[in-house]
Amino acid sequence: MPEGDTIFRTADVLRATLAGRRITAARAQPRPGLRRVPDLSRLVGARVAGVEARGKHLLIGFDNGLTLRSHLRMTGSWHRYRPGERWRRPEWEASAILETAEAVAVAFNTPVVELLTQGELRRSRPLRELGPDLLSDSFDHAEALRRVRERGDTALGIAMLDQRAVAGIGNVIKSEVAFLERLDPWAPVARFTDDELGAALRAARRVLQANTRGGVRVTTGNEARGQSLWVYGRAGRPCRRCGTPVRGARQGDLARLTYWCPRCQPPRA
Ligand SMILES: [Zn+2]
Repeated sequence: MPEGDTIFRTADVLRATLAGRRITAARAQPRPGLRRVPDLSRLVGARVAGVEARGKHLLIGFDNGLTLRSHLRMTGSWHRYRPGERWRRPEWEASAILETAEAVAVAFNTPVVELLTQGELRRSRPLRELGPDLLSDSFDHAEALRRVRERGDTALGIAMLDQRAVAGIGNVIKSEVAFLERLDPWAPVARFTDDELGAALRAARRVLQANTRGGVRVTTGNEARGQSLWVYGRAGRPCRRCGTPVRGARQGDLARLTYWCPRCQPPRA
């Protein structure tokens, strides 16, 4: 699933493909997952002014003042193609398509695609509510810590995923960071010290920054197949530190998978 590092990488690729280019054709199409289908014909003739990742939101700005916001959630991805090149996914899975003379950018299976005016962009609730962005150059560590701390009764593994507390962490980074810092993902935030939570935020930022170049996500320092992660996806396999079987279970209302080592991350009383 896309995490902050994936969106950051996607923004880089789309920026290289689209920035400064004039849109020659644009359309969104009804997809089962796409809640509202925006009219993208207003983009034809406009130039792409910039592409930005904000948390897990991807913002494509145009010189006519409009911004295309997409959120990939669990399923979405942006692809770039040359004109006429065969797509790697079926056309009916495309949520939005932007064409220039040199390239075609396609958002597949993307549940949120909307076109915003500058005023709407400023008022956009999901963007306004976003916590400090771990991949932003101006990441506000103290504010992120304050917002995580605010969620005192919430289990650490759930609080870390709350994009209103801190933006950019997805399910993989969540499990990996809790393991790296030896924190029990099931304990409420209130049971951890500021030093521990601060260290978790720093580790999340470090891991995300190290993975913005794309390719296999690596937290162990080892890119070899099956060696790149400490605990994520490794339920029942031996912990790479202590050999204890790694555990995996669903956590929270959204039943997101959490992986942890019960010995390296003992229950926090
Ligand atoms: Zn262990």
